[in-house]
Amino acid sequence: MYTVDAEHCLYLTKGRCGKSPACVDACPANAIDFTQSSTEIEIEVGTIIVATGYELLDPMEMPEYGYKYDEVITGLEFERLSVASGPTGGKILINGKEPKEVVFISCVGSRDRDGNAYCSRVCCMYIAKHAHLVRDKIPDAHVSVIYNDMRAYGKGFEEFYNRVMAEGVEYIRKELEEPVIITKDGEEGVVVRTRRSTGEEIAIEADLVVLATAIVPGRGTEELAKILKLTRSADGFFMEAHPKLRPLDSFTDGVYIAGCCQSPKDIPDSVAQAVGAAQKAAIPLMQGEVEIEPLVAEVYPELCTGCGSCEMVCPFGAITIDAVDNKANVNDVICKGCGSCNAICPSGAISINHFRDRQIYAQIEALSCLL
Ligand SMILES: Cc1cc2nc3c(=O)[nH]c(=O)nc-3n(C[C@H](O)[C@H](O)[C@H](O)COP(=O)(O)OP(=O)(O)OC[C@H]3O[C@@H](n4cnc5c(N)ncnc54)[C@H](O)[C@@H]3O)c2cc1C
Repeated sequence: MYTVDAEHCLYLTKGRCGKSPACVDACPANAIDFTQSSTEIEIEVGTIIVATGYELLDPMEMPEYGYKYDEVITGLEFERLSVASGPTGGKILINGKEPKEVVFISCVGSRDRDGNAYCSRVCCMYIAKHAHLVRDKIPDAHVSVIYNDMRAYGKGFEEFYNRVMAEGVEYIRKELEEPVIITKDGEEGVVVRTRRSTGEEIAIEADLVVLATAIVPGRGTEELAKILKLTRSADGFFMEAHPKLRPLDSFTDGVYIAGCCQSPKDIPDSVAQAVGAAQKAAIPLMQGEVEIEPLVAEVYPELCTGCGSCEMVCPFGAITIDAVDNKANVNDVICKGCGSCNAICPSGAISINHFRDRQIYAQIEALSCLL
């Protein structure tokens, strides 16, 4: 399904498409309706699976890659260009012609020590897929792939990579920190300059350059994290409760995560996570009721001044200050008993059940008697 880019749509921004926008006329399924307005709907749910996916890094943020030129596109744009249902009926055409010199560039904005330090994980293999498509559709095209390291870790991936190389695709290895600079020197095509890992400088005159731009968290991630009280890892993707033992759980009970919203991954891995998350989400629904941990924070209202320190430090959003009596309130279902509130409270007005100060002092005392 396609969504309208409201910022660039000429009908929405400048009214330049007249009364009947061209896309409405062109759509054979009558699927475009500009009269729709956004509506808010309320649905009562027991569990939630977050599978909001990813976006690609905007290549305009890295002007050296020359995305402003017509000959430079992203991997996702190449998908659209080469697919049979696309605007060219699957023919790979740039400036109206089949490109004869095609360059794919990996790690555009990924594995960047000053930016997205992580590997986007799917690029090596989709580049191999795209390179294979070009060789298949334009047999006399020369295809090269400028890469840093090849990551063909999945089932059948190494075999596919070898097959693509055997089809004549030239893999050019460079060092990760070696820049790639794309310029337009003449009327047609662009020039891709970099240095091989052997130190040799190269300049390829290309008709088409495809950038494997980094997979990044979707724009709504931060807002959704606030609404659902989800935590995010340093890279901005949603964080799982435990990377090995609870990879589909979030820190909020009843909310599960699946797919690229958790980290970059391919379709088989996204599907496996989605199936797992669906099954996990079904368990509490089938049970009808859930047990919660007894180790949660407890407020002593007579000591609480309503300063809000506990609300501020609670990583799970389990504490709110009551607007009427100005006292902290703990949501037992959300609280994980981490103790941050206990540590920060200046008036000792909040503690964790079974871990009250006097219980801990008693344990320390007992321990010191043993020593
Ligand atoms: C160029 C390119 C080529 C690729 N080729 C392959 C390939 O050949 N094989 C392969 O296995 N993988 C491939 N991948 C990876 C593949 O795209 C991902 O693995 C897959 O899309 C992840 O699925 P997902 O459901 O997690 O996310 P997405 O596919 O991004 O789906 C998320 C959906 O959630 C919607 N959404 C977002 N926010 C909200 C919200 N707040 N409310 C409601 N809906 C929302 C989005 O609109 C979207 O429809 C490729 C990736 C790229 C960039």
